[in-house]
Amino acid sequence: MSEPVRIPHYIHGQRTNGVGERTSPVFNPATGEQSGVLGLAAQADVDAAVASAKSAFAAWAATSPSRRARVMFKLRELVEANASQLAAQITAEHGKTHSDALGEVARGLEVIEFASGIPQLLKGEYTENVGGGIDAHSVRQPLGVVAGITPFNFPAMVPLWMAPVAIACGNCFVLKPSERDPSASLLLADWFKQAGLPDGVFNVVHGDKAAVDALLAHPDIKAASFVGSTPIAKYIYETGAHHGKRVQALGGAKNHMVVMPDADLDQVADALMGAGYGSAGERCMAISVAVAVGDATADALVAKLAPRVRALKIGNGMTPGMDMGPLVTKEHRARVKGYVDLGVQEGAALVVDGRDHVVAGAEHGYFLGGCLFDRVTASMRIYKEEIFGPVLCIVRAENYEQALQLINDHEFGNGTAIFTRDGDAARDFVQCVQVGMVGVNVPIPVPAAFHSFGGWKASLFGDQHVYGPEGVRFYTKLKAVATRWPTSIRAGAQFVMPTNS
Ligand code: NAD
Repeated sequence: MSEPVRIPHYIHGQRTNGVGERTSPVFNPATGEQSGVLGLAAQADVDAAVASAKSAFAAWAATSPSRRARVMFKLRELVEANASQLAAQITAEHGKTHSDALGEVARGLEVIEFASGIPQLLKGEYTENVGGGIDAHSVRQPLGVVAGITPFNFPAMVPLWMAPVAIACGNCFVLKPSERDPSASLLLADWFKQAGLPDGVFNVVHGDKAAVDALLAHPDIKAASFVGSTPIAKYIYETGAHHGKRVQALGGAKNHMVVMPDADLDQVADALMGAGYGSAGERCMAISVAVAVGDATADALVAKLAPRVRALKIGNGMTPGMDMGPLVTKEHRARVKGYVDLGVQEGAALVVDGRDHVVAGAEHGYFLGGCLFDRVTASMRIYKEEIFGPVLCIVRAENYEQALQLINDHEFGNGTAIFTRDGDAARDFVQCVQVGMVGVNVPIPVPAAFHSFGGWKASLFGDQHVYGPEGVRFYTKLKAVATRWPTSIRAGAQFVMPTNS
């Protein structure tokens, strides 16, 4: 077993251990071995990162959009060329399979590509002769120093949802990654620098609540983007707003898939396997509830799912051919296992019990087998709360209307899907469901980078979704300008409210 390595912050273009004295261990969840020692930022470390970003802001904001785009083009090449290294780093600390980690990197790359189009995205509007020889135009300008606070489950993709757009818009960025899998962010920092980004424009401070609170209260932070669990998202939104910041805070999820009686059940079962158990269920867009319409649909679905769940290939994410790896930490595995115990106590039917699954040769890894519950009801805690593990719940609905109502009554509204051949049902679902991202025969409808990502209800606090056009709006402020040249000023002093006549 090798010695755990010290994982530094990244401030003003340099890796640094900072002055914070507290540390936190980082583990390889597939082996249970400690791989790293993470330095947790003290107030002075956060101050240093923000000061670095602030010092870089004026020059970066004055850099032309085309030049900023060129950095994104180079970053794109570097991330793509080193995708396998980044994916391996993700697997080493998160546990997801290497192929899944490569998929995460690919989705992050798409946002870098989107940000490369910033010259076009930042174009303002112009109206000639709005009145009295006056021309009007509007521009979007960067905010200044902005922060990103990110979750463990996508250690590269979620930072890439934020930083490329923020930076392309002319802002400087301070990232506070998850303390459970912090190292991917340092690779990104290196590649930003190699791509030509000036020192200070992208910084990383590691830490826990203390670092987050220091960022939220810092007078030089103008906006904060957060992705994580709902209680913390709400806290970030309220605290950030209290300190006068612009905040977008994406929270947790309980994503339902409605399975209509006319759906192709083999297709549904395959879709549910990937969406329910991929990444061990640790995705905010994972499907954790299948709503089967009619008992016949439910019975047939359970019959198709059960053998597939039992046959899941579970092991070290670096071993080719695995369907899922371990959970992220020992504590998280215990929490998910606790939910399975609870479901049994609540009276749900545990069709497949993965609680005692052992991976031979990896007995210290944080593995859990796939679990499948049938006959879950809306009053159960395993239905109401986010489990965030390889646990799929089947709820039986009598008809489509009941299935829709169930989803609309749920606290969360991140993603959802309907599987059907019935165009009327699909159309009604798209129109009426109270959820931010909807799939029709698409189980994980993550929007492409040129749309925007975000849920409704308790899955998002704030007005703007992340990346895409809403990301550009979030990271810029609008300025409206009225221009008149001296030759058109004829009327002398005017004391009435200006009108457009
Ligand atoms: P988390 O809320 O525990 O942590 C997220 C971030 O907040 C981390 O950087 C963490 O250090 C920080 N944090 C934790 N506790 C804090 C506190 N008390 N005060 C201030 N900061 C704190 O989330 P997680 O466990 O890392 O990630 C999983 C959660 O993220 C799930 O709920 C999942 O649904 C959600 N998620 C949502 C989306 C989305 O797009 N809506 C995407 C990915 C993950």
